[in-house]
Amino acid sequence: MKLPIYMDNHATTPVDPRVFEVMKPYFTEHFGNAASRNHSFGWEAEEAVEKARKQIAELIGAAAKEIVFTSGATESNNLALKGAAEMYAEKGNHIITVATEHKAILDTCKHLEKHGIRVTYLPVKQDGLVDLDMLRDAITDKTILISVMYANNEIGVIQPVTEIGKIAHERGVLFHSDAVQAVGKVPVNVLKDNIDIMSLTAHKLYGPKGVGALYVRRKSPRVQLAAQMDGGGHERGMRSGTLNVPGIAGFGEACEIARREMPEESARLRALRDKLRAKLESELDQVYINGTMESRLPHNLNISFAYVEGESLLMGINDVAVSSGSACTSATLEPSYVLKALGAGDDLAHSSIRFGLGRFNTEEEVDYVGDKVVDVVKKLRELSPLYEMAKEGIDLTKVAWTAH
Ligand SMILES: *Cc1c(COP(=O)(O)O)cnc(C)c1O
Repeated sequence: MKLPIYMDNHATTPVDPRVFEVMKPYFTEHFGNAASRNHSFGWEAEEAVEKARKQIAELIGAAAKEIVFTSGATESNNLALKGAAEMYAEKGNHIITVATEHKAILDTCKHLEKHGIRVTYLPVKQDGLVDLDMLRDAITDKTILISVMYANNEIGVIQPVTEIGKIAHERGVLFHSDAVQAVGKVPVNVLKDNIDIMSLTAHKLYGPKGVGALYVRRKSPRVQLAAQMDGGGHERGMRSGTLNVPGIAGFGEACEIARREMPEESARLRALRDKLRAKLESELDQVYINGTMESRLPHNLNISFAYVEGESLLMGINDVAVSSGSACTSATLEPSYVLKALGAGDDLAHSSIRFGLGRFNTEEEVDYVGDKVVDVVKKLRELSPLYEMAKEGIDLTKVAWTAH
């Protein structure tokens, strides 16, 4: 077993060697511009792009023509929200989203709010899921778009997208979903899931960084988005710019592999994830799972270790790459806004770790990580007077802390 162990696959994934092989010829040999119509260099590049478009579309139940290539999901989310707000300005100026969305959605919404768009940020229940009645109540005759992520990048919770899409369509509202974390991990089908616009990115499913896509529905309803980049009118006029041909070829191959191997891979990772969870829960007390286990990505575990500071735990397991529930913003350590939205106190948010298992993790690695975390949590708690007091049955909320 090689150290360090990578278990942060929600942040990014390594490029699958099979994907890399497919990309290679498009750097030096078939380097043409996919928009060059007059020679074979251009045709070869275009062929690679159109093959990838089909492979990506097939994974999500779309038609190839409905795939618009971008530089990644941040751009896809920007194009979806800003493009819809601009295109449907005459219909209305209201967007509904959720407090636990990725920053690429929340910050785009904040930008739109400065430009006359009204945004409703729905809270989530303690399990991390959207309350569908609250969603229904939030829709007005000015609502143009509902944007709810498919699966959350911190807690892996899968939203009831099919129902959300149904509610949106009953009210004549478009439904966008940031499906970055779900595509290639769980079955996603834009028709069954009632999705009109959907963001994806290659680097979360073993493809390269810097290439993504936006699914834009072409019929019932036909969705139109105002371009956010002016130029040569590529990608049906929605996204100008010379295409990243090697990246796109790799993205296509990554989707094809995911489509073939998803059932087996998900089952394997789910079993490893459940093994890790069982170990932590059986050998440690006061551990709390964040978000529902009922509707969740198979490779995600987000867990709080009470009386342990997440950053100290990370330092203790420094040969394992995972993320904590704290985000370093400038000088201070902020607890995760996602965990806070579930109602977790700052302490539990700070004591949380996100494990993101992936294609290249082995059972041996998972066992090593489980042992190591148990060991370090026990050691840190031995140093914690609060943990000792709690174990002795002292109710910490009733202690009158006084300074002398
Ligand atoms: C990673 C991620 C993004 C951003 O994707 P990039 O391609 O890195 O811009 C957006 N949404 C979610 C849910 C993500 O996990």
